Amino acid sequence: MEMKFCQSCGVILDGSVAKEGAPGFCTWCVDEKGNLKPKEEVKAGVADWLKSFAPKEGNPDFMKRAENYLNAMPAWAKE
Ligand SMILES: [Zn+2]
Repeated sequence: MEMKFCQSCGVILDGSVAKEGAPGFCTWCVDEKGNLKPKEEVKAGVADWLKSFAPKEGNPDFMKRAENYLNAMPAWAKE
């Protein structure tokens, strides 16, 4: 099977996270209707996710990191 990634957050789309009716996106990045969530909402989630991998000491700007991360994603890439 071809490996697919969420176009918004980059998570690997296996059976449990792939969103039905919204090909290329995970359940986390789209709402019940299959619409992509606002960037700020996705970004807040990504920031939390980055935090969970970060060492306790220091206080990197996770929202800034999340912004950079999302800008590299097809769904959010700047023109
Ligand atoms: Zn996603």
